[in-house]
Parts: sequence; C-alpha cells; structure tokens
Amino acid sequence: MRAQTVDVSYARPLLSFVRDLTRYAADRRERDARRALGSPFSRVPDIDARALIVAAGENRPVAEAIEKERIPLGHTSAVAARRFAKALDGLARAFRAQGATASVHLVTLGLSFGFETLAGDERATFDALVADANEIDAAAVPGIAWDATSLVAAIDRLAVHALETARENDEPRSPLARHDREAARSVKRKRAHFSASSLGTFAECERRWYYRYVCAAVEDRGSSASFYGTAFHWALERFHEEYPRVDPADIALLELKIDSYLATAFERFRSGFETTVEYELQKRRAKRTGRRYLSWLLERARTAPFEIIGTEASVELDLAGYTFIGYIDRLDRDDATGAVTVIDYKTGSIAESAEAYRESVASFVDFQLPFYYWARTAVGDRVTRLSLVPLKEAARDVRPIELEVVPVATPRGYGDAPIGTIGIDELERARTKMIEIAAHLADGHIDRFPATDDPNACGYCAYKSACRERPLPREDRFGR
Ligand code: SF4
Repeated sequence: MRAQTVDVSYARPLLSFVRDLTRYAADRRERDARRALGSPFSRVPDIDARALIVAAGENRPVAEAIEKERIPLGHTSAVAARRFAKALDGLARAFRAQGATASVHLVTLGLSFGFETLAGDERATFDALVADANEIDAAAVPGIAWDATSLVAAIDRLAVHALETARENDEPRSPLARHDREAARSVKRKRAHFSASSLGTFAECERRWYYRYVCAAVEDRGSSASFYGTAFHWALERFHEEYPRVDPADIALLELKIDSYLATAFERFRSGFETTVEYELQKRRAKRTGRRYLSWLLERARTAPFEIIGTEASVELDLAGYTFIGYIDRLDRDDATGAVTVIDYKTGSIAESAEAYRESVASFVDFQLPFYYWARTAVGDRVTRLSLVPLKEAARDVRPIELEVVPVATPRGYGDAPIGTIGIDELERARTKMIEIAAHLADGHIDRFPATDDPNACGYCAYKSACRERPLPREDRFGR
C-alpha cells in the first residue's frame, strides 16, 4: 500500500505500541493493554508499570488498578498512569464512534500520548502510518465501520521493513542504547544441531542467544517454578508409561496413581526447593493440578477415545541439511481416525488463546509445536492437532489451548477462544524460518548479536543484570 521509504530502524517500539493500542481499541483485550503499558511510550516508569500489572492480578483490568490506586505511585507516575488509563478508554470509545476512521484513531492516539513531540525517525514512522491510515480510509466503503486488521497489517509491514533495515545496517544505532557499541568480534558457531527453544531465543533476542548458547553463561540454579515443572513432567511421563490409555471407570485407582507419581517426583527433586514451606506448597499445588489434569484426561477419553503413543518422545528432523532435535511431552493417537495430537505441557505462562498462540507462531517467537508437527509428519504420522496443556493453576480446570491443522490458514482473528486453527501454510512459514535461522547460525562466523528492542523481553531474561545492551528503562529515556 505505501510507497514511501522511511528508515524506521529505530522506531519499532513505537510500532509495537501503536499496534497494541489499535488491537486494544478494537477488542479491549487486557493483554494488549498490559503490553502497551509496558512500552516506553506509555510514559509510565517500568517499575511502576510492572507493579500495576501485579496489583491488577490475573483477573482485573490494569486500568482498574490505576483508577482505584491499588498501589501508591509518585506524582509523575500517577499522572502518567491516569493518562494511560484515560487514553485506553478514549481509544476504545473512539473506535466505536459513528464515522470512526483509521486516521482519526491515529490522531486520537497521538494526542493521548503527546506524539506531537516525536522527532526524527519516530516522527517519520508515525507520519508513514498516518499516510497508510489515510489510504485505508480512502478505500473504505461508506457506511461500513473501519476494520482494525487493515491498520495492524500496515503496522506489521512497517515493522518488517524496520527489521530488514536494521539487519542491512552495519552500524545499527538505537535510541535506547546506553553505551557505545561493543567492538565486533567474530564468533564461530559450535553447534551442529538446533532445538526449537534455541531458535525461539534467537528470534526474540539474538544477544540472549549469544549469552546462552555461545558463552554458556551461567543462569541461576533454577527457581521453585522450574523444579515444579521438572517434577510434573517427570511424574506424567511415568504415569502415562503405565497408563497409555485411561478408563473413566478406574478413576479411584488413577487418582491414587497420579498422586503417587507426583509425590515421588517431588521427593526426587526436593533439593531444588529452597525451603520446606516452598516445597510443601508446590507439592500441594501439583497434587491439586494433577487431579484437574486427570479430570480433563478422563473427559477427553470418554468423548473421543485415544491412546498415548509417546511421552517425552525424542524427535530429530533434518531440514535443508540442518538437524533439529527435541522432546515431545505427549503424543496421542485418536482411536476412530488414527490422527495424532502433539501435546506440550506448560507449567509456566501460556498463550491466553488459540489466536494468541497462532500469532506467536506467525511472529516466529514460538517454533516448538511447528517443529514437532514437521518432525512427526516426517515419520508418517497424520498430525491434525497441536495442543498446549496448562499445568500451572491449581484453582482452574485444565483447558488446553489447541490449534487444529487445516490446509490453508483462515483469516486471523482476535478472539479469546481456546480452540482455533492453524494453516499448513503457516506451519510451512515457520519451517522456512527455522531453516533461515539455522543457516544464519551455521554460516561460519557471526559478528553481531543485536539486543532486542522490546524492553518487555528483558523482564524475564536471566542475563538482564549483566546485559549492557538492553533497552533503557523508560524513565531514563524520557529524562525523568
Ligand atoms: S536483557 Fe534484554 S537485550 Fe539483554 S540479553 Fe536479555 S532480553 Fe536480550
């Protein structure tokens, strides 16, 4: 749509911010509001943004935490937070107003966050977006409300252009860079094979990949959460080795067994928990979650009988001369159709909806299930479903996030349903990207491992205390 050439290498955080707010205006999804709050452009200091998100918890809107002043903020932060909450509401209302247009949405957004002070490449990027919005409006059918997907697509095109520009640029600058750039030193790859998680790490932050896979930098010894996950995986692997099929009539025995395997697993990994209290709390959480997992398992066996044909199944896939390796938590084969479901247990955070997971595949943040899909397809399985099984919340029923594999991708949506679809063409794009990253990593020497420009990615990075390249906290950026 747009023909003008703008160097937007330094404006990707701006694009993310506009994208999140556009999606929020259209769908009022809390996840988008939280991401926007975490952007430097929200002007809410990072530490306060995180505190507000924690105060909101999982079930309340962060705007409510701001309005009800659930945490005490300094004057400047409080003003910025209130302005943010007001802007969220204003954008959502403006989106639904009679005669709303894409360009009015951008103007509203710009006025809400003081974009009149933008300069340089950020100014040029926002102006390019406004030009795109004008074109969207010009093409709109009178009387039909504008569709946010067209603007989101325009933002994505600019973001892709930004990425390509940044990669082509030998001397990348970042407006967020605190230090002079490090002198380039070539790194020779050491690995001859790749895992899905290493590719995901590289796609999210090349510098983090460098720390983890080249420097083998030491992370912490592992948190209680990570030992909870390890113990849970261990227990389910043994449980399903004994019970590749489950019969609802055996519920009492199965409850006894799953409790027993979990108790054994926690005893085995007891030293991973720092205190006895922590150990007991996590063990109880696992027991309650295990019972919920069993309920879901039995219900599924009742409605569509299946056999578990693999647990912790090792997979190896050769693509274009590169070897990819991994382990699949569980593989189910449907009795009636023979179709296979690939299952990944999630004991930590998980995509909030099928569409959110599909988006993480489309944006090359998550390669795991696409890789498993291709690995099992290569050995002859007819894989028809990809499933993420949440095992974190003891108080909630187990409700997997599932994507049915369909020949061609359906239009992207913003729904929060746990079940959706993913096209084989989307899985092919993920496969192509896997090969592309592997080729880059295997191509002799690498001179540069740029840091991500997404400050949110640094929030849970094990190397953030040592990383000199990470994006500045937003309060520094705005001179507060
Ligand atoms: S702190 Fe941020 S920039 Fe640095 S390695 Fe971690 S994710 Fe990358």
